Amino acid sequence: MSSQFPAVRPRRLRKSSTLRTIFQEVEFDLRDLVVPIFVEEGVSDFGAIASMPGVLRIPESKLAVEIERCARVGIHAVMTFGISHHKDQVGSDTWNEDGLVARIARICKDTAPDMVVMSDTCFCEYTSHGHCGVLHEHTVDNDATLVNIGRQAVIAARAGADIIAPSAAMDGQVQAIRRALDDAKLADTSIMAYSTKFASALYGPFREAGGSTLEGDRKTYQMNLAGRRSANLCSTRKKGQIA
Ligand SMILES: [Zn+2]
Repeated sequence: MSSQFPAVRPRRLRKSSTLRTIFQEVEFDLRDLVVPIFVEEGVSDFGAIASMPGVLRIPESKLAVEIERCARVGIHAVMTFGISHHKDQVGSDTWNEDGLVARIARICKDTAPDMVVMSDTCFCEYTSHGHCGVLHEHTVDNDATLVNIGRQAVIAARAGADIIAPSAAMDGQVQAIRRALDDAKLADTSIMAYSTKFASALYGPFREAGGSTLEGDRKTYQMNLAGRRSANLCSTRKKGQIA
């Protein structure tokens, strides 16, 4: 065998730690992290989340301390979730300007103005039935929910949220939110949907963290987990480009 074999030796670029550093493609630091924060109203103690050891629900009264702590260690962004004690059929606390969604955004921004605040935008933590929108019989009414999601987005943005983060799986939600924000002269508020997801048991721990009281399942609005390719169409629909 010739000494020229093999002609390509990628291992040359891996022979020392400094060499590997030069050629590495991915950089990762604190700026890449978004800390999810679960904020509970009406309580004074931190709450354990059995399915996520080490993650705690934070009492609203201690949120400022938590945001300060994140800022101090160099975290640039938080994603906020409310654990409501004011649930109703439609989640109307989310579009109350003194409701939990608004108060959380306000506390975050007042405490650390430079912190990027992403406000989870959905209804399942605020509805008595635990579904992500307006429930008619056993089905979530997509278009009625779009009206409410626009209201919630405006309230969160006015309170200081930099990014509206819809997690409801409603078709056309991004377009509905964009219109509502623009109509409210909030054109600089961004939208980051993270709602193209499967109706899967993997969200169980998250539902527990959010204090969801879900009755039934989300199979009529989240994706069938046996249909991977529908994710492309689904993410396009969520953007509102397909009505
Ligand atoms: Zn939801």
